[in-house]
Amino acid sequence: MNIILFGPPGAGKGTQAKKLQNEYSIPHLSTGDIFRAAIKNKTPLGVKVKSILDSGELVPDETVVDLVADELSNEKYQDGYILDGFPRTVVQAKAFDAFLAKNNDSLDAFIFLSVPEEELVKRILSRGEGRADDTVEKVKTRLSVYRKETEPVMNHYKDQGKVQKIDGMGSIDEIFERIKAALDQ
Ligand code: AMP
Repeated sequence: MNIILFGPPGAGKGTQAKKLQNEYSIPHLSTGDIFRAAIKNKTPLGVKVKSILDSGELVPDETVVDLVADELSNEKYQDGYILDGFPRTVVQAKAFDAFLAKNNDSLDAFIFLSVPEEELVKRILSRGEGRADDTVEKVKTRLSVYRKETEPVMNHYKDQGKVQKIDGMGSIDEIFERIKAALDQ
């Protein structure tokens, strides 16, 4: 099962992706986590993307697409995966479509976690993960980047009839149950 977990920053994608990973025994791939680990370990990729993540802007499409294609070629993803934070632009979505087609594979579900903007800001500022981009100013940048660059990705998948909108308000478990119900349909 190949799943895209989509939504604005602070919607709870990471939290839900980890729960889905346990429930369905398929690995979770978070591009943000990969970048943060690379920054922490000061790898060439980390050095390249650090200032971009700090600013709340997006890493260039080519870098992300190559990274994801490379990561997904790992055997552990052969029975499926949950993508969190990718694709984040229409260019990335089209590249991902091409990647799937090349591998005779397809997307099974596109789950959109819908959360009002006031709630997103509150959640991010209170989650206390110590992320450099979790400040009021950076959150504003990330939300505006989301609206401009990332939201159009949803239309791309709506055209494919894949989008399932999930109410992202409520407890973690309530939201998880909604996602499972959508996936088990
Ligand atoms: P996230 O953990 O998904 O919120 O991602 C944190 C940051 O990593 C983003 O604000 C971007 O700077 C970068 N990033 C993560 N995924 C992508 C992506 N698919 N395309 C471009 N930049 C990304």
